[in-house]
Amino acid sequence: MATFGTLSDRLADTFKNLRTRGKLTASDVDGTVREIRRALLDADVALEVVKTFTGAVRERALGDEVNRALNPAQQVVQIVNEELIGILGGQQRRLEFAKNPPTVIMLAGLQGAGKTTLAGKLALHLKGEGHTPILVASDLQRPNAVNQLQVVAEQAGVAVFAPEPGNGVGDPVKVAKDGVAYAKQKQHDIVIVDTAGRLGVDADLMKQASDIRRAVNPDEVLFVIDAMIGQDAVATARAFQEGVDFTGVVLSKLDGDARGGAALSVASVTGRPIIFASTGEKLTEFEPFHPDRMASRILD
Ligand code: GDP
Repeated sequence: MATFGTLSDRLADTFKNLRTRGKLTASDVDGTVREIRRALLDADVALEVVKTFTGAVRERALGDEVNRALNPAQQVVQIVNEELIGILGGQQRRLEFAKNPPTVIMLAGLQGAGKTTLAGKLALHLKGEGHTPILVASDLQRPNAVNQLQVVAEQAGVAVFAPEPGNGVGDPVKVAKDGVAYAKQKQHDIVIVDTAGRLGVDADLMKQASDIRRAVNPDEVLFVIDAMIGQDAVATARAFQEGVDFTGVVLSKLDGDARGGAALSVASVTGRPIIFASTGEKLTEFEPFHPDRMASRILD
């Protein structure tokens, strides 16, 4: 994955140096941890996450499991891998479905994060699994948003619930509620509610999103975040967690050439799992997120 190319190379170099050692001294471990720390910071991973991560690696690398290992350097690489999987959320987390359909999935995030595109991707993915999703256009902020959602719905071959044309006015909370009621009536088993984003975090946006959340009581609230956003990722994620709260994260634009590390910090600082990764503009460029696979991509 392009995003983590540099980070991967840097860590590979660090590990190569390490592998030429036989028995490891404390200074070998410190040197390695320092290199990992620099590589993660340069990849935009948040400082607090880097500190926790390198602290855990250092403690384990100086401990018995490494001393006793046949190949101590290899053991350190293994520890880094395990700790990386940990900051990426550990086990893979799948979408949770409601016991009584429809399952309501609400999308939240800044404007341009990739919510509308994700609505189409998720719908196509779920349709492929035999579900009958419907998209609900509760983004009435951006003049073209409803139209854009209709386009992705058509591309995905799924239904859409939108306010009458001439939108831009109207109540997004009511649209969301009516959309869920409509979905029930038409027996759609999944409702995906697209919501408005702003360029920056703002109080009105948060209130609107949290009003929608209260009105439709979603089973999942997915916070969509652009992997290219850099160090702002952590502050943005915290603001959304406080303002709306979310049950899971979707990393979008992982195909870009940004350093991506900040987005990876999000799972760690919010304690919410990354559920999907979006890797392109096409609706098929989307995949469930596997922490272990992502860790291998970064480390291999
Ligand atoms: P929204 O404002 O959050 O609804 O964001 P959009 O879904 O409109 O996406 C904003 C822009 O990013 C659009 O031009 C999308 O085509 C593009 N986009 C969305 N997801 C991805 C992705 O995973 N990779 C790339 N390269 N572009 C994406």
